[in-house]
Formats: sequence, structure tokens, C-alpha cells
Amino acid sequence: MKLEHIKYQTCPYDQQEGILLTDIEEIFPQTDDEGDLQYYCTSGRHLFSYNENSDYQSED
Ligand SMILES: [Zn+2]
Repeated sequence: MKLEHIKYQTCPYDQQEGILLTDIEEIFPQTDDEGDLQYYCTSGRHLFSYNENSDYQSED
């Protein structure tokens, strides 16, 4: 897995840039219980997940 390609995702809350959360050595991305990648939006301090195999998860 090449993290460069997935390092950034647009924040679904304010459309700002979210940065991929990784371990301290930036080798393995952090994921939630469903295996979705975790991103942190520094502009709005939003934490969001993104599954590269699907669209953004809807919040029902
Ligand atoms: Zn945001």
C-alpha cells in the first residue's frame, strides 16, 4: 500500500483537507472497526473515516 496516494481526503464536513492518520512511523494507516481509513481535518478539527472502496459513509 502506497500511503502517498491516500494521504489526503476532502473533509465531508467543511471540504477542507484531511490528513491520513497513521502510526508514529507513518507506515500503517489507522483504521476504525470497519477497516475504514481515518483522517483528521486540521482546519475544522474533524475526525472522519473514508473507505476507498465506497463513497462516504452516510450518518443515519
Ligand atoms: Zn473538516
